[in-house]
Amino acid sequence: MDDILTSDSAAALRRTAKITSVETIPLEIPFTTPFKISQGAPRATIETLLVRVHCDQGIAGVGETQAWRRQGSAEILPNLVTAVEKYFEPLLIGRSPFDIAAILHDLNATLYNSLYAQAAIGDALYDLTGKLLGVPVHDLLGGKCRDRIRVGAVLSMKPAVEEVIAEAEAFHERGFRHFGLKIGIDPVADLRGVEGLRKHFGDDIVLRVDANASMSFDAALQLLKKMEPYDIDAAEQPVAIWDVEGLAALSRAVSIPIMADESVSTDHSLLDVIRRRAASVVQTKVAKNGGIYYIRKLWHLAGAAGMRIYPGNHPSVSVATASVAQMAAAWPEPLMEGVFAVGVSGALAADVVQDPIRPENGEIRIPEGPGLGIMLDEDRMSSLRLDL
Ligand SMILES: [Mg+2]
Repeated sequence: MDDILTSDSAAALRRTAKITSVETIPLEIPFTTPFKISQGAPRATIETLLVRVHCDQGIAGVGETQAWRRQGSAEILPNLVTAVEKYFEPLLIGRSPFDIAAILHDLNATLYNSLYAQAAIGDALYDLTGKLLGVPVHDLLGGKCRDRIRVGAVLSMKPAVEEVIAEAEAFHERGFRHFGLKIGIDPVADLRGVEGLRKHFGDDIVLRVDANASMSFDAALQLLKKMEPYDIDAAEQPVAIWDVEGLAALSRAVSIPIMADESVSTDHSLLDVIRRRAASVVQTKVAKNGGIYYIRKLWHLAGAAGMRIYPGNHPSVSVATASVAQMAAAWPEPLMEGVFAVGVSGALAADVVQDPIRPENGEIRIPEGPGLGIMLDEDRMSSLRLDL
């Protein structure tokens, strides 16, 4: 019988590819309107890092991360660039892009817990290997289980409840039915927002709230108790990143399911949440959790623990959006309607790819092209490039 690889010399050649260089592309991407969560001042832009891994076959793969700079992320762009250029690139040169597990193991041994930086490398390697083989990443992850995935919309903080409802109405007209309302500064306004949305939409929408780790335990307990009658599907990270015991106490005290986001970075932090039954929902993000390779570990752990999985992202361009779409495609178990596409749903005013990913009727279609299924647009990318 013919050997499949040797019968296709191009594929056999590609299988021997070696990494030749690692390119960092720091970007500053404008928000459509300044992005306000409970932590920190509103921001007009997000600092994004693309990493391109080149190989000797003339093909490159790309991955995305962000310097988020809120609870759970002390990253800044110059640090991410230095981590990749000074510490990671020498460990990648000359190696096979297919050695993803071994490479990430070495990166972690060199720069412990550098998940934000590793995310862009790992996902670039998945993109590159998919392109070398001519298959989408979901085929590398176990094959396709779904064609599209429903996504949720983020409702940012607004001074008046009418503005919150108007923003939700605009998403509703575009087919969104799952909403994550940002809360955590003013409990009176937070409760008014939840009441207003539930009254306006009735049971036509799924409503979640996200305090981004900003509330005291007492404030969170009081507010969530008052929100219990409004059928809240999950309350995301009500208390600080370090207060896993507080999340556990809230989980026992209120009927609203508690979601851990900032509190979960590594598999060890998720295990801590699981052991203490601190949350019944977990949110993953490409940058926060280290990209596809590490996130799939978290999904397996969460699934085994009976937790619901909420695929998220910091506001991302189509690159990290595609990473989550590829993982979701290859995931056979249920997934929640997460906010991983918040950037491409309207939060970000620009993208860096040809034919950007866009939700249609509140759903993201799984990209079918090789690798992550996206192609960088060099002109768009250079117009957003930041000189560090
Ligand atoms: Mg969150």
